[in-house]
Amino acid sequence: MKECVILLSGGLDSAVSAVIARKRFASGLCLFIDYGQKAVLPEKQAVRKISAFLEMPLKIVKLPFLAKMTRTALVNRTEQIPELTMSLLGRHSTLEKSVRAVWVPNRNGLFINIAAAYAETLGYGHIITGFNKEEAVTFPDNSAPFVKAINKSLSYSTLSKAEVLSFTQNLSKDEIVRLAIKTGAPLELIWSCYGSGKRHCMKCESCMRLKRALARNDKWEWFRKHRGI
Ligand SMILES: [Zn+2]
Repeated sequence: MKECVILLSGGLDSAVSAVIARKRFASGLCLFIDYGQKAVLPEKQAVRKISAFLEMPLKIVKLPFLAKMTRTALVNRTEQIPELTMSLLGRHSTLEKSVRAVWVPNRNGLFINIAAAYAETLGYGHIITGFNKEEAVTFPDNSAPFVKAINKSLSYSTLSKAEVLSFTQNLSKDEIVRLAIKTGAPLELIWSCYGSGKRHCMKCESCMRLKRALARNDKWEWFRKHRGI
């Protein structure tokens, strides 16, 4: 099948994956999930711009129940998002704490299953996700084994046997930035921050990872100036 459903979050991994998918598939649908996350407004702004860049339609699905059932710092306005320095990105115990604070129950499992329902209904064969091997160390739902496992599950839960593809799952964030440059992905449009500010906070784990990856590719100064950070 020549069409796909692209799960877009507005972040680096999904934006780069979407650009690759755009080149490989004839058409498709971008899907953004609003689960009441703090960053919903800047993320929505980013996915609108990215889907326009891709010239693909965008569907926004709301999951208000998810925000109600979890106290994760990504959603709950009274819980603070953990702040990290660049050097702490290498400390496993700090990252484990950060992950526990921002973990949303079965988030990627839910999102992929929603995307699979769209794919099956529309007759699209593939679901495109971001993911990266760097965060897969502490986020198991970001990993290549997870993609393999959920594909096995989808082979039973969809008659069409919709299949998840992740073009970035075996890459670090540095390598994904390199791939973004190579493929012409719109780095200037992404939103990677866990927070809801007008600009990236440059204090959360996600901002720190983005900064490190951009800096290692001589793109940080460009991004900083472009986004007024
Ligand atoms: Zn941030």
